[in-house]
Formats: sequence, structure tokens, C-alpha cells
Amino acid sequence: MRRNLDLAYVVIGAGMSGILASIRLREAGHRNVTLLEKAHTVGGTWRENRYPGLNCDVPAHAYTYSFAPNAEWSSYLAPGPEIQDYFEDVTARFDLREIAHFGQEVDSCTYDDGVWTVTTKAGMTLEADVVITATGVLHHPRMPEIEGLESFAGTIAHSARWDETIPLDGQRIGVVGSGSTGVQLVSALADRASQLSHFQRSPQWIMPMPNIPYSEEQRAAFRKDPALIDAIRYDPEYLANVFRFTEGIIKPDSEEMHIIETIVRDNLEQGVADPVLREKLRPDYRAACKRLIFSPDYYQVVQQHDVDIVIEGIERVEPAGIRTKDGVLHELDLIILATGFHADRFIRPAVVTGRGGASLDAMWSSHAAAYNAISLPDFPNFFFLNGPTGPVGNFSLIDVAERQWGYIEQLLDKVTSGECAEICVTGEAMARYDEARTEAARGTIFASGCSSWYLGKDGVPMTWPWSYGRFAEVMAAPDFADFEMVDARLPA
Ligand code: NAP
Repeated sequence: MRRNLDLAYVVIGAGMSGILASIRLREAGHRNVTLLEKAHTVGGTWRENRYPGLNCDVPAHAYTYSFAPNAEWSSYLAPGPEIQDYFEDVTARFDLREIAHFGQEVDSCTYDDGVWTVTTKAGMTLEADVVITATGVLHHPRMPEIEGLESFAGTIAHSARWDETIPLDGQRIGVVGSGSTGVQLVSALADRASQLSHFQRSPQWIMPMPNIPYSEEQRAAFRKDPALIDAIRYDPEYLANVFRFTEGIIKPDSEEMHIIETIVRDNLEQGVADPVLREKLRPDYRAACKRLIFSPDYYQVVQQHDVDIVIEGIERVEPAGIRTKDGVLHELDLIILATGFHADRFIRPAVVTGRGGASLDAMWSSHAAAYNAISLPDFPNFFFLNGPTGPVGNFSLIDVAERQWGYIEQLLDKVTSGECAEICVTGEAMARYDEARTEAARGTIFASGCSSWYLGKDGVPMTWPWSYGRFAEVMAAPDFADFEMVDARLPA
């Protein structure tokens, strides 16, 4: 079948998903693909996050594009800088710099009569037939509202705005926040700080996860035989863990969730000797309600004499340090805010306007959602990768994005083959999806009574609420009855 390979594509964001979309489009022969990136280089979250101890808690060979295996990973779980290098390397291998424009933060996407006009803050204006938004989820750092923060006489750093020149050795360091980031920072800094205080508003359940380095012999074997890499990527035990985890998420009273709860409870009981410290570290909500923390050593680290777990609550910051609600002043040289991200923004603050003036902001006024996490009514040929209501959890978002791309490709086939000029979900299908999704999301472990970045403004998890198997099935074959296909360019 002949295909139109001259459609204009704009891909927004040169992180993991945007790199994927750009490669796939060019591989399919599309000649007019533009990749816009707000920052100075590719990498997304791995470019933004460079804090000490940054590590991916998904096995490195599973957190790799299926079409670009990497024999060089140094360990089972890769350190952040290696992942950034991988994305830089893939970008070079697939010549993406030819189509990439850096320093181009998109500030509007406007649809009119079959054409998307995309503008950037730096002054670019592009016309596109198709827009792929691959802007990521966690890229607007959340600064906590703590009284007196600006009065601190030492240094304050947010984990996602890391400055490598900040002195760490021999410093009195306070880490605020106990998500994946805070826990990794504490593990990495305990031996470097003279005193480390971990301020926890909510303690976390910790899943023990050893990290094993790969030897040079193993890497040589991976280079020679890619089947060895696949054996790790598709390791039945790893996949069984992912399956157990995603089943547990959607069925909080299932055997799978009880197994997870038992593992993390045993980890706490057996991992922390001092009963007072153990109780400080015990969460009062269910395991996996917040994103589970995977750590090989957090409990060992916090038992060191120069590490302090502070659960009294922060009253305010003073020039000399953090004063907690019990009146104690914790004197510090450096405060690290591991306080997370505004996770409901996606492409926003860019202003996105669809057909008939439809406003993305208005559509997302109660919560961000997209049909099957991909499409919105009245936003023709406008697709999300790792957008709202997609699967999130302790598994590979690269696998998620690759499956989503397979779905988008099938939608695009309708356009490139000339069957239609535009495609987007119908309003009716979107409403049906949103209702069913919201209902199911209320029953997931994420809604079992804790705060987390998974929850939307309305308190309902913004995530895929069904099994990973169902996600894979849905992505494999779009239900075209749910889509509106129009030829907008026919004369009226
Ligand atoms: P996060 O999970 O949102 O955690 C933020 C932490 O800051 C929470 O402990 C929160 O406490 C605390 N906090 C926020 N505001 C506060 C305030 N005003 N006072 C005191 N504490 C405050 O953020 P994150 O740790 O950066 O992780 C975000 C996500 O990034 C993760 O869930 C994960 O998806 C991803 N990540 C992944 C990896 C990996 O290894 N793959 C590593 C790092 C991050 P409450 O819980 O009480 O709200």
C-alpha cells in the first residue's frame, strides 16, 4: 500500500518517549519530523535528575529500547548517568540531532482546519499534521511550602535541580522527603556527610532489591550473544514480579498484594534492630499505596550512628537549620529538597487548543486523562506517549511507551494510507473510558489511603487501573469504533 510520507510531524520532548517516536517515525520513512526539546540536550528525567545515588529501580536490560539493546550496562540496576549516556548514544546512533531543536520550549499548540500550529517560547512556529506529546510526567519540581525556607544561611538544593559543585563531604545534611529520590539520596550521602538527618513526613515501605554489578566477562558475553540480554529482559522471574505487582495494584486484597506486604513487612522487622527506630520507619498505610521504594541498603544506612530519622514534622526553616515541631533545631549546612514533582501537568503550561476552540486546560480541570492514555476528543492527530492515565508503577516505562507507539502507529496508518486525514477518539468513547477508568482507579491500592503523586486533584489515581495484560491487549489493536475519522481537507 502506498503511504503518504510527507506529513509533517512535531514530537514534543526529547526524553525517552520522544526519542522513541522520532526513531520510529524516521524508520517508517517519514521525511518531515521535527523534535522539539525545552532543554539543551536529550534524556528527559535522566538529564534533569543528577543527584548522588540516582539509580533506576527497573532492571537495566528491561529499561532499554527493544531495538537498541545495550551490552554495556554496569549493573543489574543502572546508575542514572549511565542511562543518560545511553539516551545520548541512541540519539547519535539514529542521527536524531538532524531533526532536534534544543532550547525550544513549546508554549502553544493550536488546531485549525486540519493543521496544528506549534509555537515555542524562543520564537519558532511550525505547522504540523500530527503532534506527538512526549513531555514526560515528572519534570516540574515541587518546592515545599515551608516557612522560612529562604532564610536558611546554608545551601538549599532541589533533587531535580542538582548542582554538582555543592560541597557534600563532611557537611551536616538534611534530606526532606522520603520518596524514591529521598531514599536514594540518603543511601548515597550517609558516608559522605558528617551528620545526615532524614526528615520524613510519611515513612515508606521498602522492597529489598539487591543490585549486582556485571563483570567485564559478562558484558563481553552480552556483546557476543544478544540472546543473553533477552534472557534478562524477559526473565520469567522478573516478569512474574511485574505481573504480581500489577495484579496486586488493581486487587488490593489479592494474594499478590499480600505477598508484597509480607516481603516489605519482613524487611522492616528483620532489617531494623532498634524497636524505636523500627516504629519510626513503619508506615501507617498499605504497601504500594505510594510508589514502592526499592532499595538494597536503606535500612542498613539509617542504622548508622551519624544518620538520624526525624519524624517530628517540620515547623520552619531558620538560618541555622530546620526546627521541628518538638522545638528541636537540627543544625545543617545543606538542605536537600527531595519533595517530588507536580505530576499532573504533562504538556502544560503550554496552551493547547483543539477543534472548535476546545481547551486542554478546561478538559483537564478536574483531572488529567486521555482515552487509553493516547487520544482526546477534538484533538485530531494529537497523541500522548506516557501521558495521563497510562500505567505507572515499578516496571519499565520504555515497555509502556513502545506498546503505546505500536497503537499510535495503527492510528497513523489510517492517515498515511489516505483513509482519513484526521483521527481522534469520539467524545462518547472518551466519556465511557473516563467513567470506567475512574471507577476502577478508586478500587486500586493507590486509592487505599495515602497521599502520593499518583492522585489527581480530585483524589482519584490518575493511572491505568487495569492489569498490564489488559494494557498490552488494548495497545495491540485499537478499537476503531471508538475513533472519529474525518477528512478535514475536503472542500465544504
Ligand atoms: P515523591 O515520591 O513525590 O516524594 C516526595 C517526598 O517529599 C514525600 O516523602 C513527601 O511526603 C515529601 N514532601 C513533599 N512536600 C513536603 C513538605 N512540605 N514537607 C515535608 N515533606 C514533604 O518524589 P520523588 O521521591 O522525587 O519520586 C517521584 C517519582 O520519581 C517516584 O515515585 C518514581 O516514580 C520516580 N523516581 C524513580 C526512581 C527510580 O529508581 N526508578 C528514582 C527516583 C524517582 P509525603 O509522602 O508525606 O507527601
